[in-house]
Amino acid sequence: MQGTTPARAIRRLCVFCGSASGFRPEYAAAARELGMLLAQQQIGIVYGGGSVGLMGELANAALAAGGEVIGVIPEVLMRREVAHTTVTELRVVKTLFERKAIMAELSDGFLVLPGGLGTLDELSEFATWTQLGLHQKPLVLINTCGFFDDLLQFLKHAVAEGFIPEMHAAIVQVVDSPAAALDLILYGALPEIVPRWAVNEQRH
Ligand code: AMP
Repeated sequence: MQGTTPARAIRRLCVFCGSASGFRPEYAAAARELGMLLAQQQIGIVYGGGSVGLMGELANAALAAGGEVIGVIPEVLMRREVAHTTVTELRVVKTLFERKAIMAELSDGFLVLPGGLGTLDELSEFATWTQLGLHQKPLVLINTCGFFDDLLQFLKHAVAEGFIPEMHAAIVQVVDSPAAALDLILYGALPEIVPRWAVNEQRH
């Protein structure tokens, strides 16, 4: 960790990650490390409420280290019995949209570990909220084993082709480890983002 006094007060962070564990053991190791580090820093975790895959690894590691873990899960996933039943608090919501709204409300920032379509959906939804100026919370992608390299390449392509303003590519900050993600969120410089309509106005 960089300094002793964090640049900003962080009470809870929302973590998006796979409901699968992926094939490399490094993915689960990173999820466990992140859970443990957040608990040690007394930063609560808000996450999708699952007991499986990286979600389960993250939650179990944080709980084992005495951390606060809040799961926010839609009824439909609850019924499929993949919910984590021993988290600090499990909020059962009606819809995926309600889940996102609560996750955003409870959290001071977002961390993303490797995952599939659900994780990509969450990453792009919250990046879009920043782009539109609906919130200004940090969004940090933990690029374990270069998992997100192709996605980052695609974002550069979208900038080069004129679909993402260069400044908005910076909404997604990238680090390679859970420790670096915490360092950045607690002590690092976060990008100043001008909302999308303001960028468009500047162009005309
Ligand atoms: P995926 O990346 O497709 O595995 O989806 C993971 C993301 O979608 C998580 O961040 C969750 O918010 C949500 N999600 C997908 N599957 C589940 C599940 N079984 N339990 C809870 N949340 C899930």
